[in-house]
Amino acid sequence: MTRKELAKGSPLSWQETKQKASHVRKHGLKQFINIYNKTKDTRSPALKWGDEIEYMIIALDQSAKTAHVSLRSNEILESLQREEIENPETARFLWRPEYGAYMVEGTPGKPYSGVLKDLLTVEPCMIQRRKEIQKYLKSNEIAVTLTSYPRLACPFFSEPPLPQESSSSKSTFFPDMAINHMYPRYRAITFNTRERRGDDYHIRIPVMKDQLTRNSITEVFEFEEEEVEETLTESIPNFVCYDSVDGMGYCCLQVTFQAFNMDEARTLYDQLAPICPILLALTAASPVHRGFLTGTDCRWNIISQCVDCRTKEERGLEPLSRDRFIIPKSRYDSISAYISNEGSRYVKLLILMYNDVPVVLNDHYLLELLEAGVEEPIARHIAHLFVRDPLVLFSEKVDQEDEKEIDHFDNIQSTNWQTVRLKLPLPDTDVGWRVEFRPCEVQITDFENAAFVCFIALLTRIILSYKLNFLIPISKVDENMKRSQEKDAIKNCKFYFNSNPFDSDSDEVTEMTINEIINGKDGYFSGLIPLVESFLNATEIEAETHQRLHDYLRLISGRASGELQTAASWIRSFVRSHPSYKFDSQVTEEITYDLITAINQLEQGTRKEPLLYGY
Ligand code: ADP
Ligand code: MG
Ligand code: MG
Repeated sequence: MTRKELAKGSPLSWQETKQKASHVRKHGLKQFINIYNKTKDTRSPALKWGDEIEYMIIALDQSAKTAHVSLRSNEILESLQREEIENPETARFLWRPEYGAYMVEGTPGKPYSGVLKDLLTVEPCMIQRRKEIQKYLKSNEIAVTLTSYPRLACPFFSEPPLPQESSSSKSTFFPDMAINHMYPRYRAITFNTRERRGDDYHIRIPVMKDQLTRNSITEVFEFEEEEVEETLTESIPNFVCYDSVDGMGYCCLQVTFQAFNMDEARTLYDQLAPICPILLALTAASPVHRGFLTGTDCRWNIISQCVDCRTKEERGLEPLSRDRFIIPKSRYDSISAYISNEGSRYVKLLILMYNDVPVVLNDHYLLELLEAGVEEPIARHIAHLFVRDPLVLFSEKVDQEDEKEIDHFDNIQSTNWQTVRLKLPLPDTDVGWRVEFRPCEVQITDFENAAFVCFIALLTRIILSYKLNFLIPISKVDENMKRSQEKDAIKNCKFYFNSNPFDSDSDEVTEMTINEIINGKDGYFSGLIPLVESFLNATEIEAETHQRLHDYLRLISGRASGELQTAASWIRSFVRSHPSYKFDSQVTEEITYDLITAINQLEQGTRKEPLLYGY
């Protein structure tokens, strides 16, 4: 979304939005068909690509030993965006708001071009971006790239502190003012998700049982009903709870690649999907939630549950009467189907080889798309995205000229938060077919973020150059997504993987460890890093580039083998070895302060952690 679009608009109430849902879908579909017809043959010979990093602003209080999220992101954003407003063509970075009033998102001002040439510019761009934010911070503030703030939604987790009041999310834990209020879209998403869903959230994150962890955690829930306020105390055996869209307050790392044409974009979309859980496990960075060490290492499933706006009927808990579909997945989930010709074909007596999970889709839309000439797998993809309602509708955007505008399409597309996203060309510009890779947790240092971004960029090159086939049945990708988020998944889990990627028909699905997938398994699978290395060796690149890429690959190889820790396991051991930790799973204000200080030192290079980085 552009800066202007995000700022403008008065959201309609949920009732009005719901009433206009069919209107949005109907016109969104027409808009899609128009863009598709205009752009389906678009070719983009120039490879362009770019990352997105989300930052959290933290206010430190040295004497009180607290590190709270600082709700100043809009003030900071105003300064950050000045350069773009004055000189949109030459701005070095683009800054965007995010859900939390303590978050900002930064991307390069222009996409990188040509993979090998630009790989070495990624890390300096990230370093400069961070320096740019730092310019506008108060002396007690720092910008960290931390996936989950450890005490998010704990009492008084922000600066300034906020009372825990009833809010648009009806959350007991996450006050409204912690949601970015300058951009009405975020509160509207929060409120409407809740309204659409209808019943209460009961998100349970298992607490990691330590030596002295109590058997139950007492949570206070407040319910407001007919002006009678009731406070219930519920004893929950060993789970941390969320009760609203709070999870949108986590940070992540994303990368977008432009493809040569639509077919190449479809191939990349498919081939990257089975890579998502592997990279999620490798980037795992969020073991602490609401002040407790938990049994999970990643944000993904938590967000997935937090933004799950499906009604009871759609979740299959009640027979369908008002709603139209049982929808197996949240809007925020792994993809439901492959869309390339190879990925979506029927083989073996009409049994689906890779798309083995039924995909819920809107039949009328499918027909309309097919009649308009949209290729079947894409038509199915869009008819699938379009089973969702719009979550937010701005009153100014209700009536649109479908030939010229694309907001209704964007509305549905941009609230289908899947692990990979197919982005359409922008008509009448040089922006072509693109694929966004979305699962990664953001890493503590720019070195690590650059390492993962470059690794993913190189994976896209080997996929295309060697015509690799990583496809495995979607049901296995789903299973891998579950495993990838378990505590210490790299050490403890095996993952389904296509061990014969050089065969385009391969259905050799094997369970391998992440180490075997990344570093190779003798006589069995060459390994992603050796494949990348052979690609690099066959390409002319400068020694300096090779050396830096080698450092990046060594980091990823070490994480995969277990020689180096993921951020999640490092954070876990930091907490458990803190002098004031009581082995009761609780991550106190003081531990959080020391953890965030240590994270800042790692980022600044003033603290060494050989277990994380190998030096
Ligand atoms: P969104 O939030 O919708 O995913 P953003 O605009 O925040 O998208 O970020 C998209 C990323 O794609 C940025 O890193 C940007 O540099 C990059 N990018 C911009 N134009 C192109 C392009 N033509 N091809 C590939 N990537 C691009
Ligand atoms: Mg973005
Ligand atoms: Mg994005």
